[in-house]
Amino acid sequence: MHIDMDAFFAAVEQLDRPDLAGKPVIVGADPKSGRGVVSAANYEARKYGVHSALPITQAFARCPHGVFLRPRYSRYKEISDKVFEIFHSISSLVEPLSIDEAFIDLTGTGRLHGDPVELGRKTKRRILETTGLVASVGIAPNKFLAKIASDFGKPDGFVVVPEDGVQDFLDPLDIGRLWGVGPKTGKMLIDHGIRTVGDLSRMTVESAKKLLGDHGEGLWKLAHGIDSRPVSPGSGRKGISKETTFRVDVTDNNRKISTLRRLSDGLAARMRAKKTFGRTITVKIRYSGFITITRSDTLDMPIATSDDIFREAQRLARPELEGSIRLLGIRISNLTGEEGEQLPLFGREERNKTKNFERALDDIQKRFGKDAISRANSLEKDDIEDD
Ligand SMILES: [Mg+2]
Repeated sequence: MHIDMDAFFAAVEQLDRPDLAGKPVIVGADPKSGRGVVSAANYEARKYGVHSALPITQAFARCPHGVFLRPRYSRYKEISDKVFEIFHSISSLVEPLSIDEAFIDLTGTGRLHGDPVELGRKTKRRILETTGLVASVGIAPNKFLAKIASDFGKPDGFVVVPEDGVQDFLDPLDIGRLWGVGPKTGKMLIDHGIRTVGDLSRMTVESAKKLLGDHGEGLWKLAHGIDSRPVSPGSGRKGISKETTFRVDVTDNNRKISTLRRLSDGLAARMRAKKTFGRTITVKIRYSGFITITRSDTLDMPIATSDDIFREAQRLARPELEGSIRLLGIRISNLTGEEGEQLPLFGREERNKTKNFERALDDIQKRFGKDAISRANSLEKDDIEDD
């Protein structure tokens, strides 16, 4: 079962402010700042073409009468905790994907909870009664199908894909629905007359490989609804972190920022090696005198590139960087394997450019050593760095 709250941040805002009922609500950056993106838009706002990750200025242009709000993460977390409590009461195998979304393995829960479909309905009802918010549910033989199913019914969705109905469910879907089919691959496939998942599933695996190269077999399998990844609890809690202890406490602001950049580069390299992405970022700052603080945020979309990590780390750290600092660290947690399976098309090309650049950095460092190349603003070498 995959459960995903509908327009979560915006729905929480509407829950807390009944005066927002029926209005387009857009949670994200301040449109007056001219920078930043939409974190969440409710369905009223989506009618105007506003969606998450859209630059906030464009959101404002498309929907100037919308209610623009800054995110209140602690409140979202409060409600998220209640929702996850319900998840954990159903099964010990809960895999969080983000603050408002999880896979739940129902294998073997039958004796305790009865029919999975009935259990899904009950869960949806309990979420509504407990939080006042609506979740969409997908139930299917595997993770890939369950995730598509919950999304397919949104908002207020409840979609069951039975074992013997998998191909019928998949065939009519747009090819872009398959994980791993971005705008570029999607366009190429459409140019070859492959518009739906069914079109791909009717190819032989050999011709899929010929057309799609390395990804051919995987995509062909997905097109047949084959996905054997287990629901893995805990993967959302694990994290990757990097920190630097300065040999001499640092007061120079540029040095602090360049250290964040270097840590971001290192983290991004490790995340690439593990093929993972994370939604929660935490910065750790230890001042001279050993007072240590952390600042954390859970993002609407998973990140993995150095640029993204650096931008978010700076945002969290900047207000706290005054004074003499002994240690800086960054941690990425809430990890997931699939990059932005729900990333909108926007921004992908830019992302790919950054990724290619960072991959080139990896290659050079692998061949010629860590010191062979690094960013011009991160050249300090005498500090102690820990993973
Ligand atoms: Mg959601």
